[in-house]
Parts: sequence; C-alpha cells; structure tokens
Amino acid sequence: MNLLLNMNKLHSQILHVISNQATLITNREKCAPYLQGTEGFSSFNDKKRCIDSVVIAGNTDDITALIKLANVVSNNEELKFSVHPISSGRNWGYGTSQPPTTKNKTVLLDLSALKQIEFDEELGLVTLQPGITQQELSDYLIKLGDNYMVPVTGAGPDCSIVGNAIERGYGITQYTDHFGAVTAIKGLWANGIQYQSALFELDQSKEKFVDKTYKWGVGPYLDGLFTQSNFGIVTEMTIRLSARKPAFVSFLIKLKSDELLEAAIPLIQRVLRDYEGIVGSINLMDKRRMLSMFADNPNVNDHQIMSDIQVQTQTKNLKIPSWTIVGSISGSKNIVKVTKNEIKNIFKQIPNQAIFSDDPVISMGNKVISLLPEGILNRSAMLKKVKLQLGSFNKAKEVMQGKPNRVALKLAYWRHHKGANSFEGKVLSPGKDKCGLLWYAPLVMMKANAMCEYVEFVRKICPLFNIEPFITFTNLRHDCVDSTVPILFDLSNPIAVKDAHNCLKELVTEGLKLGYVPYRLNIDQQQWLLDKESDFWQTVNQIKSKLDPNNILSPGRYNPR
Ligand SMILES: Cc1cc2nc3c(=O)[nH]c(=O)nc-3n(C[C@H](O)[C@H](O)[C@H](O)COP(=O)(O)OP(=O)(O)OC[C@H]3O[C@@H](n4cnc5c(N)ncnc54)[C@H](O)[C@@H]3O)c2cc1C
Repeated sequence: MNLLLNMNKLHSQILHVISNQATLITNREKCAPYLQGTEGFSSFNDKKRCIDSVVIAGNTDDITALIKLANVVSNNEELKFSVHPISSGRNWGYGTSQPPTTKNKTVLLDLSALKQIEFDEELGLVTLQPGITQQELSDYLIKLGDNYMVPVTGAGPDCSIVGNAIERGYGITQYTDHFGAVTAIKGLWANGIQYQSALFELDQSKEKFVDKTYKWGVGPYLDGLFTQSNFGIVTEMTIRLSARKPAFVSFLIKLKSDELLEAAIPLIQRVLRDYEGIVGSINLMDKRRMLSMFADNPNVNDHQIMSDIQVQTQTKNLKIPSWTIVGSISGSKNIVKVTKNEIKNIFKQIPNQAIFSDDPVISMGNKVISLLPEGILNRSAMLKKVKLQLGSFNKAKEVMQGKPNRVALKLAYWRHHKGANSFEGKVLSPGKDKCGLLWYAPLVMMKANAMCEYVEFVRKICPLFNIEPFITFTNLRHDCVDSTVPILFDLSNPIAVKDAHNCLKELVTEGLKLGYVPYRLNIDQQQWLLDKESDFWQTVNQIKSKLDPNNILSPGRYNPR
C-alpha cells in the first residue's frame, strides 16, 4: 500500500508538469510492450527489466519539464526516478526500447509523437523531430517530387531517422554513415540546459540557417556527445540528404567458391576508392546469409543450424553462390554506363557472374512474372522461386535508392517462422512478434587476409552454440568494413536464449583478441564490457557528472559506473 501511495505521488507530480498534449501511461499491461525486446535479456539474467511508467511527449516542453522534475526530486528517496528516451524504440537486437539498467525507477520518455519536419529543398537539408520515421520522411519527399533519398536501413519503414543516427547506425544508400550526414543538433542536456551549437548562437541573422549547413560548428565539437551516450536528449536534428541522380543501377556479383573471397576483396576496395560518390557502400554476403532471405528454414522448430548437406541442397536448388556482392551506381546516364563497364572489367580478374538491374534479363523477368496469372505461378515451384528472387532483388534495389521497405526484416523470423515465403502483405515487427535476435557487429580490418580469417572465426564459434553463422560485410568505404552477424534464436526456448547469449559473449571476447571490435553495443554489453577505470571511460564519467550531476538520464547507457 505504501508503495502504491508513493507511485501515485510521483505520477501526480509528472501529470502536474507535462502538457495536456502528453500522455502518461502507468498501467502495467500498457507499459509491457515497451519491455518486449528481441534480446531475451530478462529471462537470461533472471530479473525483469522494469519501468515505472511511460510519458509520451506531446511537445518539446514536455521533455524539459520531465528532465527538470527528475532533477528536482533526485534527492527524494521516495520520488527519485531516471528518464530513458526513445525515438521509435525499435533498436532491435541492441535493446529494443528497454532501459539499459534495472537499478533505478525508470520513466520511459517516448518521443515518437514529435513529428515536425522542415525541409530546404534547394539544399537538401531536412530538419526533423525524433518521431519522424523512414516511411514518413519518404512520403513527405515523394509529395515534393521525390528528388531526395531517405537514409534507410534494413530495420525498415517504422524506424526513426533520429534514433538511428543517435546510435550511429548505417545503411546502404549513398550517405552510408547516418551520423556522418547529421549537420546540426538541438537538444537538452540532462542538467536541464538547452543545447544549440556555438555557430547557431553567434549567428545574428533572422534565419540562423548556416548552422544547418556546416557539421563542425565553431569551438569544441559537442553534437557528437548526444550519440551513443547518456548526456542529453536530442529534440531536433538536421540531416544532409543525398539527391536522387538521373540514373541508378544496382548490381549483384556472384562468386562460386569460398576461395574467391580473398581475391574479390581488393577488387571491392578498388571500386570503392575509384568510384567514390558514384558507387554507394558494397555488401558482401555468404551463402547461409543469402539462404535466410530466400529459403525456408529446414529446422524451423529445432535449436540447430543447417547441416552442410542441407546448405548444399538449398543453395543448388536456389542457385545461391558462396558469396554475393551487392552494390549500386548512381550519377548521370553516361557516368553510370561507364562505371558499370568499369566494374565489369575490374571483376574480370576473377570468375564471377555479374547481374545489373538494367540488364534485359531482369526487365524481361519482371515483365513475364507480372503478366503470368497467379494460378500458373502458384502451380510451378520453379516460377515461384524466380518470383521470390526477382521480388527480393527489386526490393533490395528500392532500399539502395532510399525507399524504405521491410525486405530485410524477414531475417529476424528465421528461427521460428515457416520461412521466406510466408511474409506476403504482413507488417513485420520483430519485437512485438517475439523474435529472438542479438547483433554481433564488429569492425574488421579491410584487408583480404584479415577478412578471410574473420570468416573462419565466425564459422567456428557460432555452430558451437547452435547459432547460424550468417555473415554480412558492409564495406562502408575502401578502408572501412563492418560485419554484421545476426544471432538468431528461439526466444521461447531457455536453452536457445542461453546459447545465443553465450555465443555473442564468446564472439565478442575472443574477437577482441583478434582485433574485431563492435562499432555498437547492446544494453547488456554496455554493462559488462566497458572498463570504468580506463582513461576513456573515466573522462566520459567526468563529462557525465557535469552534464548530468544527478545521474537522471539513462543510467548505464554507454556509461560504466
Ligand atoms: C532485420 C534488422 C535489420 C536492421 N538493419 C539495420 C541497419 O541496416 N542499420 C542499422 O543501423 N540498424 C539496423 N537494425 C538495428 C535497429 O533496429 C535500427 O538501428 C533502428 O533504427 C534503431 O531503433 P530506433 O531507430 O527505433 O531508435 P530508438 O530505439 O528510438 O533509439 C535508439 C537509442 O538511442 C537513444 N535515443 C533515442 N532517441 C533519443 C533522443 N531523442 N535523444 C537522446 N537519445 C535518444 C535511446 O537510448 C535508444 O535506446 C536492424 C534491425 C533488424 C531487426
């Protein structure tokens, strides 16, 4: 009863400070979806991550009011609480919308209703509030003539643009590095002080616009302190959008054997170096990863990986090569034509099969499939396969053109779903659908032998824990590659959950010894991997104590204490 009284007191204080555009959710059942992550943290650690309540902000003043209240009551043992902000809360595989630690009474601050958007079409600079999703930005740009690309990710249409940039996520459109494309930030430090750049403060013009055009500002660069941290809340972000070019072609290069990987990597480097700005980032995927897109999981109800024979049968059946290279070219018609030929020439050094989206075989295939009656398509297994592969090729092309879709999301359903064919028309949401997923996302040295050794490493570790070694390399630049391995598991099977967590831990700890360092961590790794005594994290703690003296913002988020 005492507890209930205290809770009510806090809730009435919150209700007192937020506007009537905001919503306070205190009902356990209504709060529960915010705790539904893909990571299986609660069952693994045998303690429930919990939140006290959720505030859905109606405007930016609600953010200021809640932060102020959290600071005011921070010395009151009964009332004190921490605030954990989310933009769309779809940080699947890294924590979803769950708070980083379970120690404090947490009020989750949901910013998904903040939907303002301003766009300077001439310069391609868009200013967004945290609630704007990939789909909403896409719809907005299409209405204006569809001249710019959305910085899309595989996470799909319902994810926030701001949330992804704060995590320093990346995609496969021209501006791959999403925080790299952020030119200005406005926000609020956890101590309640507003943040805008020094350049913005110096500007005495009415528009105060130039801040949005220049990422680095004047003086110490502070915008970056809002990313992968717990120092403040971003209320507005300006992003440089990539303009749609007159011509666009995507390509897919198939390598028959594993032995060709080592020879292919320098060729990818060369393409990225020589055609910077024309070729976006390049993805390199192994056969098992490709099967996750095109095949049904043959062991769907079992906690086991595909056997070599199963892989062989499926890859033969679906004509999936050992490695697949995927990328895109954009520019004027002539530039695209010349670059396409150059890429073909560069790859002539090794046996391969290259397919470009403007090849007659693709346009013919699309035409034939679109003209065939459903009945015929459904009766022929071969035609169904062609339809699925062409469909995925077209969807992947859309993503590279900055059009959000859900094609990559199917991956999260590999362990507990009937397979790639059963997604038609479904709105996928891995958190809500109780998919089990964690990410291993290390940076690897962009050198052929190092990348081949890394492949061996992942292929050795994952099967020990019954986890499929699905490997993707995203070649962000000619000198920088990040790999993503989705650790997919059945969230309802405690053994599978344990194996998944142990697998990730083994990959991370053993990988660090070999120089494979994650570019991004999940909320559990943030607690055990970072050494609070190191020079770096001591400095972070000094900054934290100034910007958040009462430790009210997302305690523990990229901040060991
Ligand atoms: C199949 C699949 C494919 C994926 N592909 C990609 C991919 O290609 N690239 C990629 O980067 N990720 C990918 N992801 C991972 C993840 O889902 C995305 O990065 C997603 O965009 C992050 O969630 P969000 O945008 O909803 O951010 P949120 O969950 O809202 O925010 C992320 C974190 O940032 C902090 N935060 C959010 N908003 C604010 C704010 N306003 N102020 C201060 N802090 C804030 C919060 O602590 C939060 O935990 C993928 C996931 C899946 C399942």
